[in-house]
Amino acid sequence: DTTPQSWDARATNSMFYGFTDLPSIRERGAVVLTHGEGPYVVDVEGKRYLDANSGLWNMVAGFDHPGLIEAAQAQYARFPGYHAFFGRMSDQTVMLSEKLIEVSPFETGKVFFTNSGSEANDTMVKMLWFMNKQRGMPTKRKIITRENAYHGVTVAAASMTGKPYNELFGLPLPEFVHVRCPHYWREALRGETEEEFTQRMADELDQTIRREGAQTIAAFVAEPVMGAGGVIPPSKGYFQAIAKVLKNHRIPFIADEVITGFGRTGNTWGCETYDFMPDAIISSKNLTAGFFPMGAVILGPELADTLQQVTDEVEEFPHGFTASGHPVGCAIALKAIDVVMNEGLADNVKALTPRFEEGLARLAEHPNIGEWRGKGFMGALEAVQDKATKTPFDAKLSVSERIANTCTDHGLICRPLGQSIVLCPPFIMTESQMDEMFDKLEKALNEVFKAIT
Ligand code: PLP
Repeated sequence: DTTPQSWDARATNSMFYGFTDLPSIRERGAVVLTHGEGPYVVDVEGKRYLDANSGLWNMVAGFDHPGLIEAAQAQYARFPGYHAFFGRMSDQTVMLSEKLIEVSPFETGKVFFTNSGSEANDTMVKMLWFMNKQRGMPTKRKIITRENAYHGVTVAAASMTGKPYNELFGLPLPEFVHVRCPHYWREALRGETEEEFTQRMADELDQTIRREGAQTIAAFVAEPVMGAGGVIPPSKGYFQAIAKVLKNHRIPFIADEVITGFGRTGNTWGCETYDFMPDAIISSKNLTAGFFPMGAVILGPELADTLQQVTDEVEEFPHGFTASGHPVGCAIALKAIDVVMNEGLADNVKALTPRFEEGLARLAEHPNIGEWRGKGFMGALEAVQDKATKTPFDAKLSVSERIANTCTDHGLICRPLGQSIVLCPPFIMTESQMDEMFDKLEKALNEVFKAIT
């Protein structure tokens, strides 16, 4: 047989797909892409798709930003790779560390580089375990996170993630504890006000800490807006109430800002948008505008001082990755921060957020959309079979996957998460591209709901 194999067959035969609904792929084939143009990606057949998810939340400057490409090329020509072990590192790595502390909410701090968000979370956990063990608290190891949270896939990050699929791996590890997801619309008790709901979440955290023993808990970790949980902003006053509980028990509060960092919610950090001060920040994705795999743990003053003291005593922090602080990644990140903060991208998010929210609110008028929610350039529409009772569709209908697949047919990429459709546009999106996004999504919603209701 001399028939050339399709790209779909080549991909399916040669790759394991991560996080992929295989029945959809069997039915429709994989989408194999060759390049991007602004917020659009183009497949091997030349079809263009508006990527309303910024790749995987990260390609905030689009897919062909000349300044970022130039920064990468220049650094590849100058010094294409180095590590950060043995007190040796590139100048770019030092400059990026300083820059991250400068743009962080912390007066002072220190940075540790990884290659991904998952590794940054695992690194944070190891830092806490190392500090606590050396300070004579070897059992202060438990990490509290929330159900439905997403923190990554390495063993600690997966254990922090509050998704049922981790049971398939025999996770979480025993030292990882989950409290409830603060989604007021879905989780509130009958007649419960949002303030009462928030207080219940804080009380539950307090009870969990008392039950487990504060002396066994190393940290609480949370995304300012849950991303892969379906874009769930916190209930009103949630982080203030949580911070109070953590302060009472002297437990560090870590913000996983892998999605919310660098302007996504309308401010540089999600913790600014929600007005709380964490003890450390986990960053990745937008850090390089998706142009290089990189993550970072940014420790605030207290944790940075403690880790430094303990490291001085042991004379080494025995942890790091071959490509931690990679010079090309750092050069790109320095440029990405500049592009987002000083070339109008963060301003565009602020300026277009009302239009984004109006578009979501308009589509939420549909009788089969139960809720729209979001913050800045993160948004979601949750499908329901019955709006009054918030009854979801039968899971067998795969409603959000159908909507996302129909969007793909119309040249729009958006993400199904649970029974929600998630939109996380690149910061460069224009008004007319935003209108195109909502028009295509509306068409897909109407087609799918007509077919299944
Ligand atoms: N933390 C959050 C909040 C994320 O959304 C993600 C990825 O989506 C991660 C951590 C993991 O990052 P990575 O996929 O780079 O390991």
